[in-house]
Amino acid sequence: MNTPFQTRSISTTAKATNTSDGAGVRLMRSLGTSQVPLVDPFLMLDEFRSDDPNDYIAGFPAHPHRGFETVTYMLAGSMQHKDSVGNTGNLRPGSVQWMTAARGIIHSEMPKQEDGLMWGFQLWVNLPAADKMGDPRYQDIDPEAIPEHTLPGGGTVRVVAGRFGDQEGPVGGVATEPMMLDVGLPAGGSVDVPIPTAHNGFAYVFEGAAQLGNGEAPVARGHIAVLGREGDGLHIAAGDEGTRVLVVTGKPIDEPVARYGPFVMNTRSELEQAFADYRSGRLTQ
Ligand code: FE
Repeated sequence: MNTPFQTRSISTTAKATNTSDGAGVRLMRSLGTSQVPLVDPFLMLDEFRSDDPNDYIAGFPAHPHRGFETVTYMLAGSMQHKDSVGNTGNLRPGSVQWMTAARGIIHSEMPKQEDGLMWGFQLWVNLPAADKMGDPRYQDIDPEAIPEHTLPGGGTVRVVAGRFGDQEGPVGGVATEPMMLDVGLPAGGSVDVPIPTAHNGFAYVFEGAAQLGNGEAPVARGHIAVLGREGDGLHIAAGDEGTRVLVVTGKPIDEPVARYGPFVMNTRSELEQAFADYRSGRLTQ
């Protein structure tokens, strides 16, 4: 029962880079960059955060995906999701949308506000070859459905996916069995987050700064920290201001990745097939 907690170390840290996507939404990309191309099974992490409508108002008009999953986690603001399967979802603060594109989906995410703060994340999760051409699926999860664990020393852990303590996140049936936690700590607070030993993972600091693992220098806001493979948890500590950290782990797929734009397959010929299917209107059939 009482196995000692061994924290993962940090293998790489990198600052998110400014980019834009969709019809011109400004983003900070921390995963899926030249510095950190992949943390198998995770392909990309974008943070969007702006109170200038020019940075987000164009939104993400209809576009395709095949071969993986897109996850939107909203912190502030509101967007409307619509897709080719007939799903609609209201992306509001604290909600998560876990969309399994599989063999093909065309969707849009458009702002439902004309001003004010828009803040959230988009995460891309790969699918194993066996599931890339499966049926699309959409999990639209209300903020109230995400359990929030209060830590003894103050702070909270929102359990989007996977498990923390005796609470289990509402996202289910995902091939890579991901864990996704939103960890908030007050000044001086700390937490030991258990992580399945078979998982790869990363932490992304989106408020304040956090000391991660064993004694490494604090990781500042807007930086990703890739976790080493040894250990069964992650020690997170806030400095003299509070911090908020997104912790994301999952089972590695360990297959070749062929990706271009909105498609993520195993081989180049499967990628070419995805583009051909999209052009001929067969992507979602
Ligand atoms: Fe998309």
